[in-house]
Amino acid sequence: EVAVTQSPSNGTNRRTPHPAPEKRGTTLHTVVSGGAGFLGSHLCEALLDRGDSVTCVDNLVTGREGNLSHLRQNPHFSFVRVDVTDREAINLALSGLRVDAVAHLASAASPPDYHRIPLETLRVGSRGTENMLELANGHGARFILASTSEVYGDPQVHPQREDYWGNVNPTGPRSVYDEAKRYAEAVTSAYGRTRGTNVGIARIFNTYGPRMRAIDGRVVTSFIAQALNGDALSIYGDGSQTRSFCYVDDLIRGLIALLDSSHSGPINIGNPSERTVASLAELIVALSGSDSDIEYFPLPTDDPTRRKPNIDLAMSALEWMPRVGILQGLKQTIAWFAGRPDEVRDAAPF
Ligand code: NAD
Repeated sequence: EVAVTQSPSNGTNRRTPHPAPEKRGTTLHTVVSGGAGFLGSHLCEALLDRGDSVTCVDNLVTGREGNLSHLRQNPHFSFVRVDVTDREAINLALSGLRVDAVAHLASAASPPDYHRIPLETLRVGSRGTENMLELANGHGARFILASTSEVYGDPQVHPQREDYWGNVNPTGPRSVYDEAKRYAEAVTSAYGRTRGTNVGIARIFNTYGPRMRAIDGRVVTSFIAQALNGDALSIYGDGSQTRSFCYVDDLIRGLIALLDSSHSGPINIGNPSERTVASLAELIVALSGSDSDIEYFPLPTDDPTRRKPNIDLAMSALEWMPRVGILQGLKQTIAWFAGRPDEVRDAAPF
C-alpha cells in the first residue's frame, strides 16, 4: 500500500520557492527515509527550518505520525507511507520528483524493536539500503547512511576510531541489527567505489532527546520513565559499563554537516563524554525529583561493556563537535516526557 499525502508536485518541488540556505544559494530536496522516527523527525524539521524541502518515506513500523504533525502544514514537506524495501513502491511514490539528497535512516533501532522484527531489520539494512542507494544514484544525489556504533560490537579498542573493524558476534541475537548495518556500510561503500555515487556513512552513537518512545527499551528512556513513575530503575549488570550520550540537536547538526559535505566516511558522530550506567541512573533520579531505588539484573547476551566515540575525524572533516551537556540534555528530555504522563505510565510494568 502506498498512501501519498501532500506530495510535492514536479512544479512546487523545483528550485527557490523559499529563502535559500546561506552557503549554497539554492534549496535542496532531501528524501529522508525513517523520517517519522526519533532522529528522522528531528532531521526533517531541521532541514525544513533552513529552507530545504523534504519528503519523508516511512512505513511507521517503529515511527509515529505524531512526530511529524507539526510539519504537516509546511508546503515544503510531504509524507509518504511506504516500505523502503519495496523498490516499485518507492519509485512510484517519488516519480517525477527531483532528488538532491537521500538520508537513509529507516531501520528498527532499539533492541526490543529489532528483536520483535528481526528479519525486517535485516531486510531494511540490506534491500532497503540498496533501494535508497539506487534512488540516489539515479538522481546523481548525495546519499548518507545512518549507521551505528554497534558495528564496533563489544569493542576491544577504546575509544573507538573509525579505522577499528569491530568485534561483532555474527550469529547472536543482536546480529540482526549489527550485521545489517555492517552490510549497509559495505553496500554503501561499494556504490561509492563502483558506481560513483556520492555517499557518506555516519556511525551514530547513543543519542537521546524528545520524541524517543518511553517503551523503546533504551537506557535513557527506561530510566526516565521509571523515575517519573516512582519505580525502581533497572540496571543490567553492575552498572559499571559505560555509554556516551549525545543530545539529539547535536547529532542532527552532525548529520547535516555530513549531508552537506562530500566526505565518504565512515565518520563517528556522538558525544565522547563517557559515563557509567550507574551514574546516569543517579543523575536521572536527581533531575526528576524522584525517590526511586535502583535494582540490578543480569547483563543480556553480547551487551557491550564500553562504548565511546573518538570524534577527531568529525571535528576536522566536518568542523563538528557536540555542544549540549548531559545536564541540559537530560533536563529537556525529562521535561518532554513529564508532559506526556499517559505514555510514561504505559511504560510501567504491570
Ligand atoms: P526509530 O525507530 O525511532 O526510527 C526508525 C524509523 O524507520 C521509524 O520511523 C520506522 O517506522 C522506519 N522504518 C523502519 N523500517 C522501515 C522500512 N522498511 N520502510 C520504511 N520505514 C522504515 O529509530 P531512531 O532512533 O530514530 O534511529 C534512526 C536511525 O539511526 C536508524 O537507522 C538507527 O539504526 C540509527 N541509529 C540511531 C541511534 C540512536 O541512538 N537513536 C544510534 C545509532 C544509530
